[in-house]
Amino acid sequence: MIPRDHPRYYSLMTRERLARCAKKGIVSFGGLAAHGRGEAFDYLLGEKTTKSAFLAQQTAAALLMAAHHPVISVNGNSAALAAHEIAALQRSSGALVEVNLFHRTKKRIGSIERLLQDAGVDVFSGEAERLLPLSHDRAWCRRNGIFSSDVVLVPLEDGDRCEALVSMGKKVIAIDLNPLSRTARAATLTIVDELTRAVPNITRACNELSQKDRDRLTVSFDNNYLLTDAIREMTARLSHALD
Ligand code: ATP
Repeated sequence: MIPRDHPRYYSLMTRERLARCAKKGIVSFGGLAAHGRGEAFDYLLGEKTTKSAFLAQQTAAALLMAAHHPVISVNGNSAALAAHEIAALQRSSGALVEVNLFHRTKKRIGSIERLLQDAGVDVFSGEAERLLPLSHDRAWCRRNGIFSSDVVLVPLEDGDRCEALVSMGKKVIAIDLNPLSRTARAATLTIVDELTRAVPNITRACNELSQKDRDRLTVSFDNNYLLTDAIREMTARLSHALD
């Protein structure tokens, strides 16, 4: 039982949720380690959405709204952490939601799809094929889903798959707290922010941005600036950590 007034209540509750989902097979053991890496970077960010991350979130909304076939690719961690937030983003952006896993079994896919459906997501399921240029199981996807997408949002991605999707000509939007990861550097647009803060901001922007603002954002973003600014924020906090 974690007391509500614990200074790290939210973080501890999140760990509890991930541990529960790991016991049910929704989150992999590797996923627990990936969460720890994310937490460390979030500490450096001050556990808040920076101005440049907010700009990236608005740009993500603009790219999703301008897409012909937008897809949100969901893994075990993102389903465990943000199923309701993903449902809201799907309603606002009109994107397909498809489950794609590194540790892929039919049973795991079924559990994650059910978790998403219970949260109100309309999951795009059905027969998957080995369609992405990858030697591991994240190569599996649906022909009319991720394979045909023009814009794909990949929360908590691995670098190989991000590079493969970019090499197929897709615009890839990554959400990754680590601005140094291969994913962050390979993506078309990287949101350096925590998943559960990032997704509701993208949803809000889908609902609120004018067409004029969306047009401006889709042509004016610079991912190198977004990554550099995230690193600058972290460096500044580290430099003043003991002030
Ligand atoms: P790469 O292959 O891109 O270099 P990696 O090996 O670090 O990256 P993974 O181990 O798959 O990739 O980890 C996924 C990434 O997700 C990590 O970089 C971690 O910082 C990030 N991450 C974990 N939890 C969250 C979260 N809740 N919100 C945002 N990012 C997260």
